[in-house]
Amino acid sequence: MQKVRVRFAPSPTGYVHVGNARTALFNWLFARHHGGTLVLRIEDTDVERSEQRYEDQLLEDLRWFGLDWDEGPDKGGPSGPYRQSERQDLYRRYSMELIERGFAYYCFCSPEQLEQERQEALKAGRQPQYSGRCRKIAPEEAARRAASGEAAAIRLKITEWNFRWNDLVHGETTFSGEVIGDPILVRSGGHPAYNFAVVVDDHLMQITHVIRGDDHISNTPRQVALYHALGWEPPEFAHLSTILGPDRARLSKRHGATSLESFRLLGILPEALRNYLTLLGWSAADGKTEILNDAEVIAQFSLDHITKSPAVFDQEKLNWLNRHYLKQLPLKRVAELSVPFFVEAGLLSEPYGPPVLGWLGLVVEAVLNKIDYLSQVPEAARLIFEYDAEAAVSLLGGEEARGSEVLLQVAPKILAEPKLTYARFREILKEVQKSTGKKGKDLFHPVRVALTGADSGPELEKLIPIFEAGSELDLARPVLSAAARLRSFAAAARMT
Ligand code: GLU
Repeated sequence: MQKVRVRFAPSPTGYVHVGNARTALFNWLFARHHGGTLVLRIEDTDVERSEQRYEDQLLEDLRWFGLDWDEGPDKGGPSGPYRQSERQDLYRRYSMELIERGFAYYCFCSPEQLEQERQEALKAGRQPQYSGRCRKIAPEEAARRAASGEAAAIRLKITEWNFRWNDLVHGETTFSGEVIGDPILVRSGGHPAYNFAVVVDDHLMQITHVIRGDDHISNTPRQVALYHALGWEPPEFAHLSTILGPDRARLSKRHGATSLESFRLLGILPEALRNYLTLLGWSAADGKTEILNDAEVIAQFSLDHITKSPAVFDQEKLNWLNRHYLKQLPLKRVAELSVPFFVEAGLLSEPYGPPVLGWLGLVVEAVLNKIDYLSQVPEAARLIFEYDAEAAVSLLGGEEARGSEVLLQVAPKILAEPKLTYARFREILKEVQKSTGKKGKDLFHPVRVALTGADSGPELEKLIPIFEAGSELDLARPVLSAAARLRSFAAAARMT
């Protein structure tokens, strides 16, 4: 096989959503598997909708996602420039060449005329398609009218009756020339149309495989026609299936988090998202392995294992993978990644020192099995930062709290410990078990509620050291020690 060159060609008109992220990922995997080149090309020919801030965000999101590319607007390379807006001369040159060789022609139809044709076709139950009216204008006259400044688009003359290509995902694919019409190559304002710019660029950038979403499959015959007109060899095409939401409608914002940015803000790890999106349409060689790291996927990635049926996005499965990858990380790293979420929740302020980070590691460890993604950490850890003695009393029922034999004995013992260890806590409970005869839930439940204000939560074995160490740190929201908690509990319950 010739050296693989693939490209990811986003339009900077919005955030990178799941479908495009998967397209980028598959191109990256394919390039890396073959030791080939991945080109990042910015398709900003839609001047009204393209914005620099979207391009900046796009690069940042792709880097966060963990992809890298070999050539692109930020890196340069032998086939630059990599922004279509900077390649206008090339499009002009090839459009002129097509006109001169009789493969393209000027079209002077006004938008109103075209709209009227469209309406008539719809009324007659025909598929709307350009009638080819301006094909009949003599080339010399058309050239004169265009040169005199009359608004003119440039259209490709479709002369073939059948377009076929062997799609690497869909297999043999055919389109009839009749349904295509003469596509616009250059709009009357001088901007190249997508189908034209993409062919010129893919050819000049020596792209060997075009891997993209199947929303473009109906563009491909137009592009194939252009390759033929220009006398160029078309690349291989692989059209990836649509991604659907759980309701089997095309995945969209309506289904929740769908952009790379929204996954980052949820606290999904990029490695989990890469693993998950890899499985969206592709499967491992053994047909069943689901947890694969980059090296494993790159080693086996092949377009043969891509399914053509639509893939259904499953947030639960992504959460499952995210939990898996979270557990693989050192706690210190999870703590670091959680910091922005604690800051946003108002539980932590920056700057903070290494002891705080070490302590956050304990906090994260205590709640890790309760969360799917990192933005849930502060909520899961709320009872560490907030203690509401009144809530604890009412949870136990006022009378029970006040008169609880267990608490009456436990409280003074804990109050006597300026720095309670879990070992000492166990001893205290053993002593109280002996003297009250209470055990199991009757013993632990009131103590848990009095210490945390909640009747469920992380194990006390984890919480007690967190309370004690936290109370010594300078945090945005002070953390109460076990003794401080029981002191306010006793006051709220008016224990005697
Ligand atoms: N700019 C197009 C898009 O974002 C790229 C299509 C292609 O890969 O050819 O959909």
